[in-house]
Amino acid sequence: MTKKVLRLVLGALVTALTLVGTALVGPASAAPAPAPARTVYYSASGYSAEADQAAQIWNSSVPNLRLVRGGSATIRIHATTGGGSRAYPCGLGCATIYIDSRDIAAGHSSLRIVAHEIGHGLGLPDTYNGICSYLMSGGSAGTSCRNPYPNAQEANRVNQLFAGGFGVSAVTSGGVYARG
Ligand SMILES: [Zn+2]
Repeated sequence: MTKKVLRLVLGALVTALTLVGTALVGPASAAPAPAPARTVYYSASGYSAEADQAAQIWNSSVPNLRLVRGGSATIRIHATTGGGSRAYPCGLGCATIYIDSRDIAAGHSSLRIVAHEIGHGLGLPDTYNGICSYLMSGGSAGTSCRNPYPNAQEANRVNQLFAGGFGVSAVTSGGVYARG
């Protein structure tokens, strides 16, 4: 091979690599599109009206989340008696929930309890800080607290988790709603 031919081959190779590089990198202006709201299906074999209301509350508070009844439900709500209202989270958007009729008999708001337990399925832990504006303060805010809405901090946290899309690790504990 003469030096001239070699230069031509090298020149062609550089051109080809440059083209490949451009194709791989793509135009610099392509910003990622905002992620669509993620759908989470729920079911309720008990406290059905509260479940629908709580889902509506969460949907209106968290733009990245869309709770829908039916489908292959990953948030499953059941009625029980004794043992405390509680959630067993199984990942982001996944939890088996028990609502204890004794909590409601003791004067706690059934809607607040259901919304709180769903909160565990959406990645929030208990705070038990006694402040009614926190949905995740649970029964620590007393039976007079009827607030079923997450505050801005709680809603933002869930919105952040769901912005992360699938595969986000957000398994929390879900202790009983009313302790002691
Ligand atoms: Zn809880």
